[in-house]
Amino acid sequence: MIKQIKTALLIVDVQPTFCEGGSLPVDGGNLVAERIGDLLARDHGYDMVVTTQDWHIDPGKHFNQNPDFVNTWPRHGVAGTAEAELHPSLVPLAGKITFQIKKGEYEAAYSGFEGVDGGGTSLDEILSMGNIKRIETAGLAFDYCVKETALDGVKLGYEVIVLKSLTAPVSQETAAHAELELQSAGVQICGNFSERRR
Ligand SMILES: [Zn+2]
Repeated sequence: MIKQIKTALLIVDVQPTFCEGGSLPVDGGNLVAERIGDLLARDHGYDMVVTTQDWHIDPGKHFNQNPDFVNTWPRHGVAGTAEAELHPSLVPLAGKITFQIKKGEYEAAYSGFEGVDGGGTSLDEILSMGNIKRIETAGLAFDYCVKETALDGVKLGYEVIVLKSLTAPVSQETAAHAELELQSAGVQICGNFSERRR
C-alpha cells in the first residue's frame, strides 16, 4: 500500500485587518476569507490545518505614520484588537483548525515560520511532529506573507504549493515579482487570482 504524503493546509493572516474595512486592506481579502471558509467547511482531506496571524504589540519600524507600503506599514494586526482575530468566515470553523500560530509581537514577521502557537511551539516543529511533508498555502497577502511563508517552507525541505485563487495581492506589480521568485525557489503555484466580486 502506498502511503499518501501528509499534507497541511496553511492559512496565512486571514484577519479582518487585511480585508476591506480593516486597517491595511487588500483588495479581495474578504472574498478570499469567504472562499477559504467554504474549503474548510467541506470534507477537505488535509491532515492538518494551521492558521497564522499577524499579532503586533510593538513591532518597531514595521509601523510608520508615513508608510511606504513596502517595508513600513500603517498600524495593523494589533494584538488584542478585534481586527487581529481570525476572520469571521473562519471563526465558526475553528474546530477544524488544528493549530493557530501568532507572529510579529515585537518585530516584523512576514513568514508564518517566525511564529509560535499558544504553547510556544514553532510552525516547523508542529509540522514535523505531524509528519507533514507537503504544505498547501493560502491567505493574505500573496506578495508578502504568503510569499515569505512559502519560501521558508521550501528552505526547510517541505514541498510547497500556493493556492493562488485563495490569495490576494497588495499590488499586481509586486505579485508578478513574487510569482517569479516563488517559481525559481521551487514553489508550485496553482490557479489564478480569483475574479473580484463587485
Ligand atoms: Zn505586520
